Amino acid sequence: MPIATVNPANGETLKTYEAMGEEELERRLQLAEATFRTYRTTTYPERARLLNRAADLLEEDQRDIGRVMTTEMGKPVKQARAEAAKCAKAMRWYAEHAAELLADEEPSAVDVKDSGAARALVRYRPLGPVLAVMPWNFPLWQVVRFAAPALMAGNVGLLKHASNVPQTALYLEDLFHRAGFTEGCFQTLLIGSGAVDEILRDERVKAATLTGSEPAGRAVAATAGEMIKKTVLELGGSDPYVVMPSADVDRAAQVAVTARVQNNGQSCIAAKRFIVHTDVYDAFTERFVAGMAALRVGDPLEEETDVGPLASEQGRSDLEELVDDARRFGAAVLCGGERPDGPGWYYPPTVLSGITREMRIHREEAFGPVATLYRAADLDEAVLIANDSPFGLSSNVWTRDEAEVDRFVRDLEAGAVYVNGMTASHPGFPFGGVKRSGYGRELSGHGIREFCNITTVWHG
Ligand code: NAP
Repeated sequence: MPIATVNPANGETLKTYEAMGEEELERRLQLAEATFRTYRTTTYPERARLLNRAADLLEEDQRDIGRVMTTEMGKPVKQARAEAAKCAKAMRWYAEHAAELLADEEPSAVDVKDSGAARALVRYRPLGPVLAVMPWNFPLWQVVRFAAPALMAGNVGLLKHASNVPQTALYLEDLFHRAGFTEGCFQTLLIGSGAVDEILRDERVKAATLTGSEPAGRAVAATAGEMIKKTVLELGGSDPYVVMPSADVDRAAQVAVTARVQNNGQSCIAAKRFIVHTDVYDAFTERFVAGMAALRVGDPLEEETDVGPLASEQGRSDLEELVDDARRFGAAVLCGGERPDGPGWYYPPTVLSGITREMRIHREEAFGPVATLYRAADLDEAVLIANDSPFGLSSNVWTRDEAEVDRFVRDLEAGAVYVNGMTASHPGFPFGGVKRSGYGRELSGHGIREFCNITTVWHG
């Protein structure tokens, strides 16, 4: 895959880049290691000052970087600006909270005494250069949710971004430098995925985080395993969205539309499988399909656009194949389902019903604005369908019955349960999945501690 900006709205190649060669990569790895030696001794207030400055700059740049993201991967420009604003918020959140999240911990007095110590503590120390392999779908956010905690913890970052968002990747490096972080604190490596393995094997790289597809996660985790290096994996999702009879069905259907098509449907935490209790199935379906069909699909640079093109031609044909496969096995297409003529990798908001287990879309992730509908006879069946997926990222349930909420929270195999709302990440809450959605957590205190050397200090 070439490293290039190709506008998904018309297929035009806007900019191409040469991959960095061996010498340049060696220079950058040396710089990362050398920078870490001094950066690790900086204080939390010093790091916070720089990160807050990066947040200010990012806010100032919102319009420009928003347009860049839109021309690189096709998200509606208002969503691109909102992504930049969210990143600034996460930076400020970690600038404010890191010192307290990583403060020394004291084991209980009983355990200290029992160990024979005069005193003891647990200290969170940084690990060193961390490699971040990132996807294009939230080209700023995915990186910032790694970089903000990593930099606050005293680590330094090496970014291998997706090959189709090189301008956003270079912008991020520039942003951190302008904010005052020294050059080696955050570097972008312009490389293809084939070059990741060697970098990960380099002794100077201490750990890796990957957000992306299952095959990429498997490749990185395998090498990291061989090298005994810590990894965090944020992989795919096919989140269930369960609607029970006590729910506010109008609201559930309205939010369902946004939950499915946000970011042109290319979000790991988008709701993808809509599991509706039979008593409210018809009412929900009618409203949901009407909402999906009414969306404005078009040029993502226009403010009124709800759904832009998919990020790549390949992405669109993958999605199309999933829909065609379901159709072949008897799924009904309630809206959408046909690619439009003309330039750009557009695909209409689509709703499929009559999903069965032999359809690929039942177990694979639909990365685009395609929803699948399931009818459930009762709560038990809803949970069974929801868990009948290799993924376990997040989940959404709509009910006003507290006993049902308890059952869902107890039984849903997912890293989050959102009740009467749609999944959205927040810096204060842990984010991550189970099953083939990956392991480890980002955001909150859990995220910042993933790449720390949790050190026991014992005094005799
Ligand atoms: P992808 O193909 O896996 O790419 C993600 C990153 O991994 C890119 O930088 C890519 O580089 C790199 N990569 C690909 N194959 C690799 C390999 N064998 N070894 C090392 N690096 C490799 O994923 P995508 O299609 O861009 O992104 C969509 C996927 O990401 C979806 O499954 C989505 O659900 C998931 N995702 C998960 C989360 C989460 O938080 N759980 C968030 C967003 C997206 P190149 O671009 O150079 O190929």
